[in-house]
This record gives sequence, structure tokens and C-alpha cells, in this order.
Amino acid sequence: MAKIDEETIRKIKESNDIVEVIGYYLSLTPKGKNYFSVCPFHDDHSPSMSISPDKQIYRCFVCGANGNVITFVKDYLKVSFLEALDILSKRANLNLKLNINEPDNSPYKESYDIYKLALSYYKNNLNTKSGEEARKYLEERNLTKETIDYFDIGLSLKSGLSSSLAKTYNKDKLIALGLAREDLSDLFTNRIMFTIRDNHGFPVAFSARTYQNLPGEPKYINSRETEIFKKGKVLYNFYRAKDYIRKEREVIINEGFMEVIRLHTIGIDNAVALMGTSFTTDHLEIIKNLKVKVVLNLDQDHDSNR
Ligand SMILES: [Zn+2]
Repeated sequence: MAKIDEETIRKIKESNDIVEVIGYYLSLTPKGKNYFSVCPFHDDHSPSMSISPDKQIYRCFVCGANGNVITFVKDYLKVSFLEALDILSKRANLNLKLNINEPDNSPYKESYDIYKLALSYYKNNLNTKSGEEARKYLEERNLTKETIDYFDIGLSLKSGLSSSLAKTYNKDKLIALGLAREDLSDLFTNRIMFTIRDNHGFPVAFSARTYQNLPGEPKYINSRETEIFKKGKVLYNFYRAKDYIRKEREVIINEGFMEVIRLHTIGIDNAVALMGTSFTTDHLEIIKNLKVKVVLNLDQDHDSNR
């Protein structure tokens, strides 16, 4: 477990005004120096919880629930103390790198590192001269720069990734991870790269779409399962959607990731997608823990990533 020092905790509290944070989740009424809200910690009908901007604390006069901005987020969202810190540091754009789920001690650390490098390579390609046609393709599909960044959309070129990774990493590893071929050519070439992150947010796979209409080319090539990527365990966009799901108290489960991307473009962010599998018991476990309403947006034809 990561150790967070007092200074970091102080900084997180200072950068997250309690009125703004509670006001994001609950509706507040100003009264005198304080704000009041219906208490979410007991079956409340008239506003019993007062929030003090001066003291940066809340207190319920009926059930006695009280604390600061961190305890509020922890208790309201039913997350751990560390997760609450993480949510608040992200909210305030503190960029603290709390590393609450960093795979530093993972036996698969090297694989995670390799995928991180692949992702930055693909993202960078899209912004170069060679990415012009792909950028135009995405633009024509109404994917803005913001959406492209948000979902880590990149571009693979004719070659380059595997040979450069092979300077640092073992060739067999790159092949096993589904990035390279035996001759160190790239497995993904000249395709728009949609990044698949696992439920903690680590890039673990790609779905690569053709954009040049070459005859005989499959529309999508997807990463194979590896030691860090198990289709039945990953929900596309889960780590980004988590906070929105908790806020909306609802999750929308889609068939394909393009639906999630389209929903984001119209301001709906509590959406996730299956990775070409059926809904598994592992998925169910992930969702069940959130204790929210589930909306299934699944088609019959299994070809939704158009
Ligand atoms: Zn209460």
C-alpha cells in the first residue's frame, strides 16, 4: 500500500473546497455562514447536515456523521481513504502521482512498461506529418482533439515500434505481448490505435482500425490476450467512468468501445464497454461493488464498432 505523507494530505484538503466538493454530489442551501444539505448518511428528509466553509468540515445534527472533505468523499462514495485521496487529487489537477495502483511490485511490471511506451509512441505518431490522413479520418467522424486525447487514440506507422523497443526489451517478450513479429516488424501497421486500459487505468491492449480502405484488410485487428490482458476481466473505460458512475448512480454497459466514445462526445461519461466477450462473472463483480443501477446497451449483431 502506498504511504501518503501529512504534507500531501494537507495539500489535497487545501485544494478541494468542501462546499464545492459536497455541492458536486448534493444540493446545498446557504444559510448564514454555512450551507445545509439533506444528509446522505441517514434516511433524512429535511436538511440536517451543515457544511462550514470556514472550518472546512461537515456535521449532521441527527446521525452525527462528520468530518472533512476527504472523509466525505470516502464515506459518500464508499471508497478507501487512498482512493478518496486519489479522486480529490485528480479533481484538483494536483498531479501528485499517488500511485495507489501502480504495478511497481507486479511481476508484470515490464509488460506494463512496454505498453506504456507503445501508447506514447502511437499517440505521438498521430500528431506528426504522417498522421495527417488519420487525423482527417477522425475529424470526419466528429472525434475532436479533446476526445482523441481523452481516449488515448493513436496511430501505428509502417514500422518502427518493435525495432526500437527491442533495443531495451527481449524480442520474445515483445512477440508474446502481441506487438512484434518474429522478424521484429510491427504487428500493428498503418492503423488508428484505440487504447484499451485495464480497470486500474494501465494500457494493456489495442484495437487497431484501418482507415485507408485497403482491399482485403480486416477492419479491426485486436490485441491477443496476454499476461496483462484478459478480455473477460476488462471493461473498456471503467477506470475513467468510475467516478461518473458513482455520481450518476448508474452504469451504461455497451457492446463496443466506439459507443463509449460516442457517448462521451455528447457528454455521457458513465459508460463502459465489453471487449468482444459476453458479460462475465468477473465483470459482474466489478459492477456489483459499485452498487448502482445497470443499463445494458447491447445489440444483437455483435458488430458495433463501426
Ligand atoms: Zn445524518
